[in-house]
Amino acid sequence: MPPYAFFDNRIIPLSEAKIGIMTHALHYGTACFDGIRGNWNEEERQIYLFRAGAHYERLHRSCRIMKMDIPYTVDELCRLTVEVVEKSGYQEDVYVRPLAYKSSQTIGVRLHDLEDSFLAFVTPFGPYLDMEKGARCGVSTWRRVNDNMIPARAKITGLYANSALAKTEAWENGFDEAILLTQEGHVSEGSGENIFILLQDKLITPPPSDNILVGITRDTIIQLAREEMGVETIERQVDRSELYIAEECFLTGTAAHLTPVVEVDHRKVGSGGVGEFTRELQSIYLEVVRGKRAKYLDWCLPVYSTVAQRAGG
Ligand code: PMP
Repeated sequence: MPPYAFFDNRIIPLSEAKIGIMTHALHYGTACFDGIRGNWNEEERQIYLFRAGAHYERLHRSCRIMKMDIPYTVDELCRLTVEVVEKSGYQEDVYVRPLAYKSSQTIGVRLHDLEDSFLAFVTPFGPYLDMEKGARCGVSTWRRVNDNMIPARAKITGLYANSALAKTEAWENGFDEAILLTQEGHVSEGSGENIFILLQDKLITPPPSDNILVGITRDTIIQLAREEMGVETIERQVDRSELYIAEECFLTGTAAHLTPVVEVDHRKVGSGGVGEFTRELQSIYLEVVRGKRAKYLDWCLPVYSTVAQRAGG
């Protein structure tokens, strides 16, 4: 049972899905992607794709910005994703990577007069950062790209050179993750995560206008904090120094789930351990994404067909 991919409008073994070396997107970063987690639920022997519909809606929006066409609706994309994952047969946490890309075999920087293609594949995927111990973060010397450079609200492959520079700089400096500031010096986000702080008992996160990718996990956490903990999130500009005085801090993302931040720029966050609020929200979130909270099952799209199909909003 090899892993499968959706490629050239059909499902084929991943090992047979190949692209040419002249592919436009490979040279110029002209592709849009997304990332969807499939979370293994051991008791039900089921994989739940988390908020697949929301991820595909974002992919459609990214493609509008990059003048790309995906010839599939959000529902069709959800269905073909279920098929790829089901056929691949994994019984563990997985990650689905859909990619819409400028596929013309041609030289020349532009967006127009090029063919678009779509592919998706699935791969096993464990933890990204240490969710138990938390992450030690460093503020990057690299700045987040501005909306009028490359729009950060679109998940454009070329944009990730910015994230990669910051991530490796952080790693080489002994940190687990980078925090990027905007050109003006406000906190934007991690290299692949949104950021929240708890400051004077208020939950605060930077707004979309500070060049964040508007994360689906961010939205999930805002809803769970409100519904399950009675805490409203304030979206406002965040100063770098507020990271130093926050009681708690955490990162959110499909890969990172909810990862506590225990240190920023060699300063302990709070007492230096994982904060109480962060731990509770994390445990609620981890139940929700594995389909263990009935109230949120609409967010969980089951892959294996023994369970009745539900919509994956
Ligand atoms: N910011 C960036 C730069 C990212 O790459 C990601 C990961 N997709 C996120 C934030 C978090 O977004 P989401 O919660 O939708 O995965």
